[in-house]
Amino acid sequence: MTSAASFDAAARRADFPLLAQTVHGQPLVYLDNAATTQKPLAVIEAVEDYYKRINSNVHRGAHLLADRATTAFEEARALVAGYINSPTPEQLIFTRGTTESINLVAQCYARPRLQPGDEILVSGLAHHSNIVPWQMAAEATGARVVPIPVTATAELDMDAFGQLLGPRTRLVALEHVSNAMGSIHPVADIISRAHAAGAVVLIDGAQSVAHLEVDVQALDVDFLAFSGHKMYGPTGIGGLFGRRELLESMPPWQGGGEMIETVSFERTTYAGLPYRFEAGTPHIAGAVGLGAAVRYLRGIDRKAMAAHEDALLAHALELAGAMPGFRLVGRAAHKVAVLSFLLDGGHPHDVGTLLDRQGVAVRTGHHCAQPAMARFGIPGTVRASFALYNTHEDVERFFTALRKVQTFL
Ligand code: PLP
Repeated sequence: MTSAASFDAAARRADFPLLAQTVHGQPLVYLDNAATTQKPLAVIEAVEDYYKRINSNVHRGAHLLADRATTAFEEARALVAGYINSPTPEQLIFTRGTTESINLVAQCYARPRLQPGDEILVSGLAHHSNIVPWQMAAEATGARVVPIPVTATAELDMDAFGQLLGPRTRLVALEHVSNAMGSIHPVADIISRAHAAGAVVLIDGAQSVAHLEVDVQALDVDFLAFSGHKMYGPTGIGGLFGRRELLESMPPWQGGGEMIETVSFERTTYAGLPYRFEAGTPHIAGAVGLGAAVRYLRGIDRKAMAAHEDALLAHALELAGAMPGFRLVGRAAHKVAVLSFLLDGGHPHDVGTLLDRQGVAVRTGHHCAQPAMARFGIPGTVRASFALYNTHEDVERFFTALRKVQTFL
């Protein structure tokens, strides 16, 4: 039987060396996981081992180290592609992360196709990186970016979505999970409805890949963007999955080495997938580290992990419900373990600073989702976001610290 109780979060916590430290003299309670997760020793050691034993440039090398680096890099691609169930490794493009992946699709897929009057539907809760690239493509083509309205519980208004979806919709681009509020959107339903209307769908998986099973084939999604650093991997590396025929129909992203087949001053031809979109020396150590993160996640019972994270959320919501002056922002029926909130009489930044002094790390502000904040008529929130290594003791310490914060307000 899978249950939260069968997940040993304390043992997992011990895998993450950074969490053992104290801050301001207090044991660290790290609740800023939606911004970036910590890295297990397995990932840190894989990166270290890469630089100690393997480092060389990939592809084309005539020596042993070049072979080793190429093998490590392509093994990492296969691991990451397998993690999201991509049908082939070459449909997984290594990028710097979600932001670069979305920009790639906006510039190479959308921009050449968009016509004046075409529409791109985006989420009213979207992270700026899933708004601005579309605005840039729209500005260049005369297309329009249209937000899907958000309900009072921070869910997408699916009736409004149905009404907005129409013959002008070329693309639907939305997050699987809202970083600002934690809402899990019904992406399978959205994808099938968008496809029925003839639109292509990009899912921003930045906040889902570490917490939910994301299977690109089961979802039948056209593009999936994600970041390594939010799934226990290094910064500076992430992925873009694309449907093969779409990727193959797209012009290259950046020009340079790696992405060509032949170059002459008369005519240059481009490489096939995935290299066509990977100009320049890639972040080899990052890819190796991300591969190690996938291996780490594979060694974990994912259902038990999800049940554990749900139990942390339930625990936090119970304590929040008993706390006067705690205003929860975002009450979606389905959400990951993210608590976005305000405390009566306390500016989010002050609350964040007072929590930090007690060893509790949270994020405050608009969370790169200003339209989402505008929807709720607030400039920002305090956000506590949980990961697999957080414990019920962390939840207790967080609320003990919050109660103390309230005495200062
Ligand atoms: N999309 C969502 C939902 C996010 O939460 C984030 C980061 O917080 C991003 C996109 C951007 O990710 P990155 O900065 O790793 O490119």
